[in-house]
Amino acid sequence: AQKLKNISSLVKTCLPDRVSRILEDIGRLAESMGLNAYLVGGVVRDILMQNTNMDIDIVVEGDAPALAKRFAAMKKAKVSEHFKFKTAVVIFRDGFRVDFATSRTEYYTNPASAPEVENASIRNDLYRRDFSINAMAVKLTGDDFGLLLDFFGGQKDIIDKKIRVLHSLSFVDDPSRCLRGVRFAVRYGFAVGPHTEKLLKHAVSLKLLERVVGQRMYLELKYILSEDSYVDALLMMKKYDMLKFFHEKLAIDDFKLDRFAVLKKINGWYSFQFEDKLELWISRFCILFADLNRQEMKRLASRFEITGRLYDELADTFYKFKHAVWQVRRLKDVKASAITGIFEGMKTEAVTAAVAVLGQEYEWLLKEYLTVYRFVTPSVDGNDLKSMGIPPSGIYGEILKEIKRAKLDHEISSKEEELDLAERIARERGIKF
Ligand code: ATP
Repeated sequence: AQKLKNISSLVKTCLPDRVSRILEDIGRLAESMGLNAYLVGGVVRDILMQNTNMDIDIVVEGDAPALAKRFAAMKKAKVSEHFKFKTAVVIFRDGFRVDFATSRTEYYTNPASAPEVENASIRNDLYRRDFSINAMAVKLTGDDFGLLLDFFGGQKDIIDKKIRVLHSLSFVDDPSRCLRGVRFAVRYGFAVGPHTEKLLKHAVSLKLLERVVGQRMYLELKYILSEDSYVDALLMMKKYDMLKFFHEKLAIDDFKLDRFAVLKKINGWYSFQFEDKLELWISRFCILFADLNRQEMKRLASRFEITGRLYDELADTFYKFKHAVWQVRRLKDVKASAITGIFEGMKTEAVTAAVAVLGQEYEWLLKEYLTVYRFVTPSVDGNDLKSMGIPPSGIYGEILKEIKRAKLDHEISSKEEELDLAERIARERGIKF
């Protein structure tokens, strides 16, 4: 690979036409306002690696919200401004977003007030970023549209496949970068550079991750578990002894690796069968913390500072997952109705996690449940029961439930048999009709 200076043609080939036109429009508009604008961060990294990434982040040397507002007006899009941080986001009608931020350091226009440093403002902005591969910018204004600004060797690190921080205090400034580093390393199959690795180990030995606020820890874990190569990430976190910052009992052993392998197989099957996309990180989260009891899960949630609905949902999913594993294990007779009774009302992510923990030999059960059992409903309904003369009451629910059970277990198959069963139940209960 060769290092490039102007990547305008790469920008055009890697981004959809619409997006590269948007970038040109932003460049022209910024220029007409006397501002410099740059495309920055992850999207630049991904363009250089020829990956798709539609997270468009713009840094402006000057008033970013002013540019965003003019741009939104031009495109008849919505804009929302964050006054304190001098940022703004433009949201198009179809939901496509462009983020605008004011470069972190003031741009010295008056030569007498500051040393003449070319691109001082954007350079400083990039210097505050996490890794060299994430600290590049593409100029959108002026004749050199597409000019790559790479002050810290990001391009070389992409070629060499290295994750490198920009300075020795990077992990001290923001220890959550330890987790981000793992995420990017596994995503791209990069190694952590030797000096960066030393700094990372040092940060771990100083327990700097304890200082990271809970919500950030939670989000970084969620992002890691959302990566295709999350298992590699967990193994890397184990190697660097970082797992304990989530929970002192958190361990990755061969048993868990086997569970993750079964989950992968199940999810492969699922995505082949069904259209909807599962939130894979949820299943992975359940398996990862499967050994925790209620008390320990509560502790984890308080470490993550998650409360309210977020906590309720996650805890509900997790406990149902645990309970399902326990219930299936103690079933003497694995009947369709029993399985349906256990899995019904669970998020699919929790069901797949439960089956992964139960093991490969339960895979057929999951397939039956997801493709057949969960769609089984009685053919008769309340109207049929009414026509039979059964007076409406709570008994309807009971009858329909029993019909569903019998149907699931293949004790009955036709509507006539359902009606017979309804009649039998009603008579057994002594209902007069
Ligand atoms: P992804 O592809 O996972 O979205 P990204 O690089 O776009 O990766 P974001 O979290 O959206 O990641 O961050 C956007 C950019 O902001 C990064 O590329 C990086 O330059 C900068 N950044 C984000 N978080 C940090 C951090 N903790 N410290 C320094 N810079 C950061």
